[in-house]
Amino acid sequence: MFTLRAAVMWTVNDFPAYAMVSGWSTKGYMACPVCKEDVTSGWHAGKVCYLGHRRWLPWDHEWREKDKEFDGNTERRLRPREWSGDEILEQLNRLDFAPFGKTTKDTIKARLDLERMGIRRGLWMNRDSDKARRDLAFFSMKPNDKKEFLKFVSSVKFPDGYASNIAHCVNVDGGKFTGLKSHDCHVFMQRLLPVGIRHLLPEDVVKPIMLLSRFFSQLTAKTLRRTDMFQLRHDIVQVLCKFEMIFPPAFFTSMMHVMVHLPEEALLTGPVNYRWMYPIERLLGELKKSVRNRAKPEGSIIEAWVQYESLTFCGIPLSPPSPQPPPLVPFPPCRRRRHRSLLAVAVATVASLPAPAAPLPILFSKAPLPLLSWLRHCKLYRHSR
Ligand SMILES: [Zn+2]
Repeated sequence: MFTLRAAVMWTVNDFPAYAMVSGWSTKGYMACPVCKEDVTSGWHAGKVCYLGHRRWLPWDHEWREKDKEFDGNTERRLRPREWSGDEILEQLNRLDFAPFGKTTKDTIKARLDLERMGIRRGLWMNRDSDKARRDLAFFSMKPNDKKEFLKFVSSVKFPDGYASNIAHCVNVDGGKFTGLKSHDCHVFMQRLLPVGIRHLLPEDVVKPIMLLSRFFSQLTAKTLRRTDMFQLRHDIVQVLCKFEMIFPPAFFTSMMHVMVHLPEEALLTGPVNYRWMYPIERLLGELKKSVRNRAKPEGSIIEAWVQYESLTFCGIPLSPPSPQPPPLVPFPPCRRRRHRSLLAVAVATVASLPAPAAPLPILFSKAPLPLLSWLRHCKLYRHSR
């Protein structure tokens, strides 16, 4: 008998789960676990919005004096204070932890909100006729331009494995995107958006959007330099302030606000690609596809994994000694394709052996039991008998 001690070193989680691990709610008026109660939030167009990014600007910056361009007030406050590690630890010790486990924003409400605040007169409701009307905002694309943009997006071709086929996610006639994964959204934002909107929107709108694209490209680069991160910390404040001058307050959800803290996080924890969820999500997706018996999903996953590992193990002595072995399929995507792809690897390996190579059935008769049970269903194997 001994006492086993364990500690959670780090977790990878999304923003809602951040509330569970940090003990700070990510909903409501104080949704930012970094700024805590010092965050600037308000109720606009039926939801909580986060403005006030001028607080991160230098004390004597000219934008601090502007009012009509922003939320109707000048900005005199300094940036929210940064908490030290000891202070955060003390706050955590005071907490009672719960068990750990588990559209468009340019609406009529948003326009009425601008009228109430007395800012951005160009975006107020048009009351020339009997009925109040919402004219197209200067930052919105005209219907024809939107079609042109979607046609451009659907015509782009990416290298294999760079992103999913975005053309399949574009509905040009319906004027919308469907089925984009979060990784595709990043590719879209970093690569396609800055190129696609260049001639379709006013320069004042395009510039900050391009800066935002560049911000994410630099932030998610494989190598990060500390000096670049200091520059990004400065740039993102400029971008958010420019956005505040363009878009209505309803645009600034908590997700827009947390961008201001991303360079700081990169400075603390290093390159983003070691922390992001894409490889984990991909693996979980592949594991999910291997479930055959929905009553016992874990059993299915274990069985599929054992088969995959035993085949990989069998493949090792068969691999020819070459500097670059043929790439193995990381995990079989579905039953049929799995049979085909794994067998293809085996056949390719056997085919690459020096002649005279052993015939397939003899080689497979020495394979472990799970592999044989799996081969029973395999079409190619049956043909080879
Ligand atoms: Zn914050």
